[in-house]
Amino acid sequence: MRPLLGEEEVAAAAEVVRSGWVAQGPKVAEFERAFAGYLGAGHGVATSSCTTALHLMLHALGVRRGHEVIVPSFSFIATANAVRYCGAEPVFADVDPLTGNVTAESVRPLLTPRTSAVIVVHQGGVPADVDAVRAVCDGVPVLEDAACAAGSTYRGRRVGVGALMAAWSFHPRKLVTTGEGGMITTDDEELAARLRRLRSHGVTVSAADRHAAGTSIIEEYTETAFNYRMTDIQAAIGIVQLGRLPGLVRQRRGLAARYHELLADVPGVEPVRDPSYGTTNYQTFWVTLADDIALHRNDLLARLSVAGVSARRGIMAAHREEAYAGHPHVPLPVTERLTRRSLILPLHHELTSADQKHIVGALRQAIAAETLGLAR
Ligand SMILES: *Cc1c(COP(=O)(O)O)cnc(C)c1O
Repeated sequence: MRPLLGEEEVAAAAEVVRSGWVAQGPKVAEFERAFAGYLGAGHGVATSSCTTALHLMLHALGVRRGHEVIVPSFSFIATANAVRYCGAEPVFADVDPLTGNVTAESVRPLLTPRTSAVIVVHQGGVPADVDAVRAVCDGVPVLEDAACAAGSTYRGRRVGVGALMAAWSFHPRKLVTTGEGGMITTDDEELAARLRRLRSHGVTVSAADRHAAGTSIIEEYTETAFNYRMTDIQAAIGIVQLGRLPGLVRQRRGLAARYHELLADVPGVEPVRDPSYGTTNYQTFWVTLADDIALHRNDLLARLSVAGVSARRGIMAAHREEAYAGHPHVPLPVTERLTRRSLILPLHHELTSADQKHIVGALRQAIAAETLGLAR
């Protein structure tokens, strides 16, 4: 991944610095309106990251000690960690082999009277079938971790539309970046108002609103909360970035289509693709190695590295990390296989057709060499 940043972002950030108002203020409000408007969501609440957005969403639902929250292990570790921030237990659900996402079938058997929420992740930008998950959840709130999914679609609408709450990331690893940053989108006005207070120490009126009021307003702090605010410098960059998103998604989908063509004659390598019900923004272009390829994924990565290709291991699995050692979970065979047998290929706006040919050529050669036992 390479972030697409230009002089427009530089100018937008400079303008905010010159204005003298650098913390959360009018630019954050403008970015929230623009992002919610782009999605077709009622409200946007900007945060300091997607991780803090996930924590705020769970906190706003009252998730606490003694509760369980169903999440995929197959995700960036922040998804599971947010549950622990609330003192609750993450309950890991397995994922679909094609999308890498939890399904109605994997979530249903894990629901208990203690389940206080389910977090569906749209992994790497691939939309999850969230309607199907909602249908089995019987009123248990379904939240969406849409960190990767800006510009992906689900059943003809943008991913995250209609969510009780969806969390977004603006880390440079994602398509829209503000350096660090996040957002919660929701259609629920009361929930949005509560989230705005929670991200800012439970304060009744924001600093920007107090200054704009033209009269003296004394703020109050109604509950113990957090400082999870975004700055106006970040938001100004985000507004410019959002304008680039549709073009960027189009370009990435074109590059992914080219990868699909090139990979069609590399046996045993299955690239990620659109599910039947939606489209991915290809934030992450991962490929899975078939079981009959005897080669270890990490050896393949090493060989690619020698060929000048900076591929990466696939999506992580939280339950395999030290932080979750001993944490009980049901068998997660698909998660295990995907996390061990997948790798992420380079995909960014500066990638050329020649680069892609080189990358796929290197992949083909590495697999052939290892399979023939010529390696190491
Ligand atoms: C990147 C990512 C996060 C964390 O986002 P930050 O903005 O870095 O906190 C959470 N969940 C998923 C699925 C991600 O890919």
